[in-house]
Amino acid sequence: MRRGTLSLRARYVFPVDGPPIADGVVAIQDGRIARVGPANERTADLDLGNAAIIPGLVNAHTHLELGSLTDDDGALPAAPENEVEWLRRVMAQRRSGSSEEAYRANVARNLRAAIEAGTTLVADTTTAGLSWDAIAEAPVRAVVFAEVLGLKRYRGLQTNDAAWRWLGSITPEAQVAANARVGLSPHAPYSTAEWLYHSAAASRLPLSTHLAEMPEELELLETRDGPLRRYLEELGAWDDDWEPIGPRPSDYIRKGDLRHADWLVAHGTYIEPSEFWQLRPEASSNGHRVAVAFCPRTNARFGHDAHPYRTLLEKGAIVCLGTDSLASSPSLGVLDEARFLHARDDSLSGELLLTMATLFGAWALRAETTTGTIRPGKSADLAVVRLPDRDEADPHRLLLESDEPVLATLFEGDFVSGPWQET
Ligand SMILES: [Zn+2]
Repeated sequence: MRRGTLSLRARYVFPVDGPPIADGVVAIQDGRIARVGPANERTADLDLGNAAIIPGLVNAHTHLELGSLTDDDGALPAAPENEVEWLRRVMAQRRSGSSEEAYRANVARNLRAAIEAGTTLVADTTTAGLSWDAIAEAPVRAVVFAEVLGLKRYRGLQTNDAAWRWLGSITPEAQVAANARVGLSPHAPYSTAEWLYHSAAASRLPLSTHLAEMPEELELLETRDGPLRRYLEELGAWDDDWEPIGPRPSDYIRKGDLRHADWLVAHGTYIEPSEFWQLRPEASSNGHRVAVAFCPRTNARFGHDAHPYRTLLEKGAIVCLGTDSLASSPSLGVLDEARFLHARDDSLSGELLLTMATLFGAWALRAETTTGTIRPGKSADLAVVRLPDRDEADPHRLLLESDEPVLATLFEGDFVSGPWQET
């Protein structure tokens, strides 16, 4: 049962669309943020103590259905790992008969972990809507992208039919009730035929794709050859008649009708600097949105080149954060990703990094008027993070240079994880 009003006080409130507030209060009414500001002697219903209140985190790219990919000893192979070899292992796991039931169990477990990690909005890529039921019931917002793939015609038809059977079963009313929207995800240029990209773009649904993820993908698009081709041949998935949409990964979101869609680009590590302008919000046609979901720990795991997030951000592109799946990442925590990135590059301001983890992801998923900052009128989707016992001139460092956990998550004003759930 939703309480009418609740006020929370904490050492810091990070509204994201304004500077951090020391000794701040967030007042919630009927699930929405009613007021945010300094406590100023006012008492609050609940004093969270040495903690930060931040907007609920946005995971802009994950696959909840995948479990971790440990070897026979239960360990992750040492990083960096070759990504084509990794694909072989993912596919071996899929083909070793991981049942739909096992995937659903992964979704339930991973969704719970994501919410406990402060996530209130998630972009999930899933097989034919498999994660929908769990997401629809959970206290979380989402866009659920049904994955389509296949270079061979029959494989493409199979995955497309399954995706559309699911899409046809989800009414607009069901999406409103679930706080979730449906979308489509053509998997990647190396795995997905041209017609599947065009058909996805014609659907007018939000779209996501893995793009410019590894050098082998560039080689395949340019030469139709290389390690990815050999991998696809081994799988029996290679199609001799296959032609790429174009020689550049960006052709897959920009050529012809493909530009008339929202694209959430997973990774984008090898996007050419000369193509960056295409990712600026104002460069897209008819207000369509293109954003990059950067997954720092996954990028590092495969030993990729430095991700061009700095250049992208400087050129006005929207870069948000994702965890990718447990098959390549140790957790589904967006704050873990932000802390990892901060440790590697502390010249990126904490303010911008927190914006990437919240507002930019909300923008990419067209949810920025509802969530992504702590502002009166928005949904009270919040995360509470314990802070270390020290002072910093820039309080963002308290959040980012710390191992302190997410203590609690609020969704629409209700605690949905953590010790205050029943208060
Ligand atoms: Zn992915």
